[in-house]
Amino acid sequence: MVNGNKLLILFMNSLESLTKEINQCQKCNLAEKRTNAVPGEGNPKAEIMFVGEGPGEQEDLQGRPFVGQAGKFLEEMLGMIGLKREDVFIGNLVKCRPPDNRDPFPDEIDTCVKNYLKAQIKIINPELIVTLGRHAMEWFIPGKKISQIHGQPKRLIKEETGEKQMYLPLYHPAAALYHGSLRETLIKDFKKIPKILEKIDQLNN
Ligand code: URA
Repeated sequence: MVNGNKLLILFMNSLESLTKEINQCQKCNLAEKRTNAVPGEGNPKAEIMFVGEGPGEQEDLQGRPFVGQAGKFLEEMLGMIGLKREDVFIGNLVKCRPPDNRDPFPDEIDTCVKNYLKAQIKIINPELIVTLGRHAMEWFIPGKKISQIHGQPKRLIKEETGEKQMYLPLYHPAAALYHGSLRETLIKDFKKIPKILEKIDQLNN
């Protein structure tokens, strides 16, 4: 049997090699205009994985996810539930900034998720995937309206393994910055995370 530390090193190695691959990726047109790819970062054994849409200007410059205004708000909300960004894993559907912050095209999302995000999820194996914004929600929970399902945890079957995965769709922190009325809604939804994790523990035991 492999002990805990060896397992952690294995996880870290496979996440690191994925990160190297992402940094060199040329699989879609987004590679052309990026300054840096933004593979995602955080705890390789995180219970919670946050998935945003794609890097913005600051993220592209720094090669790190959620480091702009939306990221500050995300960190603030993590603090409200006693967490730091190092405790969780933060990533995106697409790893390169779409030019002028346009929405990523469906084929770009498809290529990036199938090659990278799925592999990251498999390695990290989070208890809870929190989707930030409607694009991330649409990938995991297709055909719904974010205004109708935000803040409602959803347990779905992973197609590859048949295992159950819990999702929590939230509004994007940037949307809450632009539309002040969403701020309180997002904070209220965010604060449900600890209870949802408790519930997952109960379901697993
Ligand atoms: N918005 C996102 O969706 N992802 C980031 O990394 C930053 C802003």
